Amino acid sequence: MESQYQPLCQRLRQHFDQGVTRPLEWRRQQLTALRRLITENEPALLAALHQDLAKPAMEAWSTELAYVTGDIDHSLKRLKRWSAPRKATTPIVAQPGQAWVQPEPLGLVLIIGTWNYPLQICLAPLVAALSAGNCAILKPSELAPATAAILTELLPQYLDNEAVAVVNGAVAETTELLTERFDHILYTGNGAVGRIVMSAAAKHLTPVTLELGGKSPVFVDDSADLTITAQRLAWGKWLNAGQTCIAPDYVMVTAKQAGALMDALASAVHQMYGGEPKSSDSYGRIINERHCQRLITYLDGHEGVIGGEHDLAQRYLAPTIVQTDDWGCALMQEEIFGPILPVLVVKDFDEAVSRVRQGEKPLAAYLFSKDGEQQRRWVEQVSAGNQCLNDVLMFSAVPDLPFGGVGASGMGRYSGQAGFDTFSHLKAVLKRGWLKDLPLRFAPYSADKFKW
Ligand code: NAD
Repeated sequence: MESQYQPLCQRLRQHFDQGVTRPLEWRRQQLTALRRLITENEPALLAALHQDLAKPAMEAWSTELAYVTGDIDHSLKRLKRWSAPRKATTPIVAQPGQAWVQPEPLGLVLIIGTWNYPLQICLAPLVAALSAGNCAILKPSELAPATAAILTELLPQYLDNEAVAVVNGAVAETTELLTERFDHILYTGNGAVGRIVMSAAAKHLTPVTLELGGKSPVFVDDSADLTITAQRLAWGKWLNAGQTCIAPDYVMVTAKQAGALMDALASAVHQMYGGEPKSSDSYGRIINERHCQRLITYLDGHEGVIGGEHDLAQRYLAPTIVQTDDWGCALMQEEIFGPILPVLVVKDFDEAVSRVRQGEKPLAAYLFSKDGEQQRRWVEQVSAGNQCLNDVLMFSAVPDLPFGGVGASGMGRYSGQAGFDTFSHLKAVLKRGWLKDLPLRFAPYSADKFKW
């Protein structure tokens, strides 16, 4: 049966086929218009993010709006270089000749977003898709309805409507949309749905980028400066009330430092959110009651909890630190994706590495240490989508670093040129000259040709 989205896909694909989206001028116009959308509607966008997640304005501005405009500026500056032919060395057998890689747009791409950074997670992949000269359909998360609504309202006012469209809906609509053929799908969300997206894509041999999650570990070594460590950890953990895919999920520390680290973390929380985080303007809320309840349940049976106060009706859970030695508890089995930070004692660096390696490959992995040899070993021995040494999250502020997971935390990457390449086909081209070829290459392969 024909899906309700077929006419839309057909329309956008036709636009692509007419070559409208190919010229760099069109791409620049779209990127500049998207930039204007953000700057001209800043208050309304911040209000929508506040409605969905009670995001503090400063936080929403830096991690969503400015993140995307920064990405646009970065792309605009490099667009010409990224899209230019990339010279390849031509070996003697192909001489005289010239070889190069020619990036070309893929066609119609689908971007499926999630709710935790509902603006950034839709628009940053869109920046990459438009930079590469594609048409795109955006499917924002239904769990952040205010942001989905404002994107639906504003995008058509700024962008080429024959090239970019927004489709809203939940499971039923997304399932139907996924029956259509796309030239690439970028999905952000959990791994269970990632598998559904990948099987739907397989029917059309559509390549996918899956931006998933996982339990991103932290090891704090004895040499670390605990005040700086705690401040950076607390920022990265309780930003967006812990609902960040690369947030530190749990912290490992030696027995010698555990108490001091807990104190330093508690004090960093106090400095950022005061004695009563519930009334702090700088602290967000959980996306919905279901997720809030899931998080509260994680605390069952745990002693040694700092924080933990909650108010389900207000979707509030305080910044919470849990000291535990139970590696088998629910808190340590699933991605937490909320404001609870378990702290676990390990014997040493080797145990920390081995604990991480026992689990699925995480989206991010963090080491706090002044020891250069440990830093080298962490990078070498811990496989993760992304890493930061002596900080958390900040790699995502470097547009030239590709962002993506490995293993269960995802596949493929975007950000900067990685995003441009994800939404391009890197076509190999060889152009030959007209000098006569050596006869060796052509049949008949008589023995006298191979006398050397
Ligand atoms: P979600 O519930 O918003 O789902 C994501 C998208 O999938 C939505 O658009 C939703 O409509 C769609 N969807 C849900 N069920 C579907 C189904 N059965 N078939 C087709 N589509 C379906 O988001 P979520 O999964 O709760 O997101 C949280 C997860 O996302 C966490 O694991 C987090 O780590 C991860 N995440 C990853 C990144 C990253 O960049 N790697 C960023 C943010 C979040």
